[in-house]
Amino acid sequence: MESYDLIIIGGGPAGITAGIYGARQKLNTLLITKSFGGQVARKVVMIENYPGFEEISGMELIQKFEKHLRKQKIDIERDEVSKVKKIKEHFIVITKSKNRFESKAIIVASGADPRPLKVLGEKEFLGKGLSYCPLCDGPLFSDKTVAVIGGGNSAFEAAIFLSKIAKKIYILEASEKVRADAENQERVKKTGKVEIITNTQVQKIQGKQFVNSLIYEDRKTKREIKLPVEGIFVEIGSQPATSFVKDLVDFNERDEIAVEFETCQTKTPGLFAAGDCNIGKFKQIVTAASEGAKAALAAYGYIEK
Ligand SMILES: Cc1cc2nc3c(=O)[nH]c(=O)nc-3n(C[C@H](O)[C@H](O)[C@H](O)COP(=O)(O)OP(=O)(O)OC[C@H]3O[C@@H](n4cnc5c(N)ncnc54)[C@H](O)[C@@H]3O)c2cc1C
Repeated sequence: MESYDLIIIGGGPAGITAGIYGARQKLNTLLITKSFGGQVARKVVMIENYPGFEEISGMELIQKFEKHLRKQKIDIERDEVSKVKKIKEHFIVITKSKNRFESKAIIVASGADPRPLKVLGEKEFLGKGLSYCPLCDGPLFSDKTVAVIGGGNSAFEAAIFLSKIAKKIYILEASEKVRADAENQERVKKTGKVEIITNTQVQKIQGKQFVNSLIYEDRKTKREIKLPVEGIFVEIGSQPATSFVKDLVDFNERDEIAVEFETCQTKTPGLFAAGDCNIGKFKQIVTAASEGAKAALAAYGYIEK
């Protein structure tokens, strides 16, 4: 079994930054990730709030992050972590492909996955008209009618992106009002292709081989309405990818890992959690990167001690 000072789990902004800091502290570091980019790779409109770049696409920003990381002396494994255990002073990391690694400290930077709707037909039509990634699957819906489920910024940005491809877009929001900021609402209006329906409770996704409609309940009238659509994009937020450390950490009610603010230290000494997977309130690229740096410096202090 290969042994490291530090193992980082996740290749988003938090994990990549932790990797750069860990390697620069001369820690023998391994970064394990399913993919590079994390949620940044799902970004469909330009990023306009990362300092140093007035406007940059998610893909371009993450390529720059990855290039910077690969300049360091660091080992990288493309794999999914399925379990982390602590045995005496050491951690054992087990991956989906049954590899095992040992380390003195761990940084969990596994971010979050899209939250599912949990309705009938969702699993059945995933990849057959239903998607969690407009950037990846949007181009398949040229000149078609699609629905975006959700009323926050991600849903509105998805609709803006899809308006360049699809014929018509419905935004279905569960509550009385959408939550997207004023700028995104303005941009959506300008497309002239988006219809917003509020007070909806999606009940069912249906079709034959591919999606052909969805059923929602109008929450005011309690009437069931069939909406003919060929594509459905689910944008109702995310859920932390944290189950593989469940025996070593405390969670809040949203399954986010409890950490100490200054160091990103969890309740288990030597185990840190940075970025969207922890209880931090503001989930942004810049805050995730900042926590990756904090966690790596704290891990260095822990290992030195
Ligand atoms: C649509 C959308 C638009 C956004 N727009 C902006 C914006 O404009 N500006 C901004 O600042 N923020 C934006 N955000 C938020 C920002 O993307 C996140 O806050 C940020 O990506 C969090 O970084 P992270 O490294 O903590 O997690 P993530 O980006 O989620 O990365 C987690 C990484 O961990 C890996 N991973 C997960 N589980 C495992 C496992 N078990 N084993 C191995 N690897 C694993 C994943 O593959 C991924 O690479 C947006 C988010 C979304 C979804």
